[in-house]
Formats: sequence, C-alpha cells, structure tokens
Amino acid sequence: DVTATKGNEFEDYYLKRELLMGIFEAGFERPSPIQEESIPIAVAGRDILARAKNGTGKTAAFVIPALEKVNTAVSKIQCLILVPTRELALQTSQVCKNLGKHMGVHVMVTTGGTTLKDDIIRLSETVHILVGTPGRVLDLAGKGVADFSQAETFIMDEADKLLSPEFTPVIEQLLSFFPPARQILLYSATFPLVVKSFKDKHMNKPYEINLMEELTLRGVTQYYAFVEERQKVHCLNTLFSKLQINQSIIFCNSTNRVELLAKKITDLGYSCFYSHARMLQSHRNRVFHDFRNGACRNLVCSDLLTRGIDIQAVNVVINFDFPKNAETYLHRIGRSGRFGHLGLAINLITYEDRFNLYKIEQELGTEIQPIPPVIDKRLY
Ligand code: ADP
Ligand code: MG
Repeated sequence: DVTATKGNEFEDYYLKRELLMGIFEAGFERPSPIQEESIPIAVAGRDILARAKNGTGKTAAFVIPALEKVNTAVSKIQCLILVPTRELALQTSQVCKNLGKHMGVHVMVTTGGTTLKDDIIRLSETVHILVGTPGRVLDLAGKGVADFSQAETFIMDEADKLLSPEFTPVIEQLLSFFPPARQILLYSATFPLVVKSFKDKHMNKPYEINLMEELTLRGVTQYYAFVEERQKVHCLNTLFSKLQINQSIIFCNSTNRVELLAKKITDLGYSCFYSHARMLQSHRNRVFHDFRNGACRNLVCSDLLTRGIDIQAVNVVINFDFPKNAETYLHRIGRSGRFGHLGLAINLITYEDRFNLYKIEQELGTEIQPIPPVIDKRLY
C-alpha cells in the first residue's frame, strides 16, 4: 500500500529542488514505506537489499536516489538500472524521465529487439542513467560502447527474475565493468537462494529491508475437537450445519485425502473446490482465482497456499488433518496484518495429534481451546 507511511515527507531527504519538483508533479505527495526506508540510505551510498510486495512503489524507491546522485555536469553513465523485461525497461525509464524532468538528466533505455546500431549512436551522446535488460547491456559494455568506468550505482529491479540461471553470469560479467566501489541496490518481491548468494558474493554489508507482512494469529479464534479418524467427515458435516460460513478453507495432509474429502463434501450436498500439489499450476491458479471471486463456498486443499490466507471472505479455516509443525499451522491459519480481520480456526484432533497440538500451541505462544457447543458469531 503506497499510502501508509511513517509520516516522513519527501522534503525530509534534502533532495535537489528540481528532483522534488518532479516528484510532486508526478502526484506523489508522501513517500511510501519502501521509499521511506530506501531513499535516505541509498542517497548515503550504502548497498540495499530490499524486499516488498508488488505495488508498494519500489521503482521510485531506487529511481529517486539514482536521480539525486546523478551529476548532470558530468557526461558519463553514472547509473545502470537492470530489469528482466523490455516492458519493464520502458516503464522504468519513463519513471526516471518523469521524476527527473526538471533536472536536465539524460536517460536511455536499451533492450533486445532493437538494432544495436541505433543504441551505439545514442550512446555517443550524453547518457547519465542507462535502463536495460542484461543481454543487451552486456553487448554494449563488451563492445566498449557503454562505459561504466565512472558508474557508481548498479540497480537491479525484480532481482528474483534477473538472477535466473541464464542471466546470473551475464550480470556478474556486467558488474566487472563497474568500479570496485560501486553501490548495489537490489529490489525484489521474493528472495530465492540465488539472491542470497548474489548478496554474499557481491554486495557490501547491504542494509536489508523486508516489508513483507508477517503472519499473525491475532483476530483468529482457535478451537480443537477431539475426534476419531472415522468420525471426521461426520464432524465436518456438523460444523457446516452449525457455523455461519462465508467461505471456508479445509486442509488435508495429503493429495489423496484432498480428492477423497472433496468428493465426500460434494456428496453431503455442499459445493466445494479442491486444489493440491499434483494438479497443474495453471489449473490450481484458476481454482484459487475462482474461489477468491466467490464462485464456490468451500475449498479443500493441501499445503500449497503460499503465505497465509489473504481472502477477506474466508471466515473459517478447518484443519481436517492437523499439521505436523508450527510453521505449517501458521501458514494455514495466520493472516497478514493488513487483513487482520476476525476468523475461526477449527482443528480436528485425533489421538495421535494430541502431543502435536500442545507442542504447536507452545511454540506459537497461542491458545487453542476446546470447541464450545455454541460459537459466538461475533468471533468470526
Ligand atoms: P512496485 O514496483 O513495488 O510494484 P511501482 O513502483 O510500480 O510498484 O508503483 C506502483 C504505483 O504506485 C505506481 O503507479 C506509482 O506511480 C505509484 N506510486 C509510487 N510511489 C508513490 C507515492 N509516493 N505516492 C503515490 N503514488 C506512488
Ligand atoms: Mg516493480
């Protein structure tokens, strides 16, 4: 969310007046949280490794410091912004041009699919900030057309995509054209291992920003019911008839059990979708998308929802099979702070699950209570 801020203002960063004008003309009134964290640190010259969701304003978080650091009196490439796709390159260079429009800054975009000759001509004139995709930029650097010997800032956007096996060697070669004291700013929505190894290998004690929302059990009332394995479906049927379910997600511990249970729920006369790891990703996406749009009241699945349930309409989560560890429990039941509305979690506990129930309760420092005969509707 680009509007929730700590209360800082763009004026607080002592940016160049011309840059500030560009920012306000773009309609940005206040920095977003990722911008609040990034701008002062990046302007100070420190490496940054930042993680934030899509739509949180990452582009301006690195474009503003890049513009601030440019010295337009020097006719040299001072900053490279690498992105994984041509579309993103065009978009990002547009943001540079917009925010920097009163600065007299020269921004050039270069991607595959255009002729190299045009790029060579454009690079014979002044370029301060180069935005591009790795392959083409390396081409230009290798030919000595793009000179990074005085470039201080190396930025990677969507680093998780940039650091794919095919791009990583290209990026490492590109880095070798930069002065040793270059600053690296790296932005990503996820941090796969490749990002971590890049950090360890190339970055200089980066300031790490992580604005991914943590999962919480706040607002979720958690109950358990002791059952025997063969009573589970009956128990679920009772829950369906007693609870006021808006939408529910029901978790099983295996793919087979997901399909079996989905069939039983349908036989009981309740509509339900199911999703599990053996289905094609595209199929799973479609099921989840339709469920999110309210096409069905219940979803049976195994553990494949990435991180927490962010569907407002889901007010009941049922662990038909109790998870094996606290982390899985949190991922199934927890909600990200932003969506911290009320909900109910109901755990069907067999004799074998007993010990795990107490363990998970302890580990998460939470309370899972015995299910009462009547559940107050105000709790969910
Ligand atoms: P991300 O890269 O994190 O997905 P973007 O940089 O594409 O996000 O920004 C998302 C949208 O938010 C864009 O339309 C952008 O113009 C807008 N935006 C970014 N920063 C601000 C701000 N400080 N105030 C208002 N809108 C902003
Ligand atoms: Mg982005």
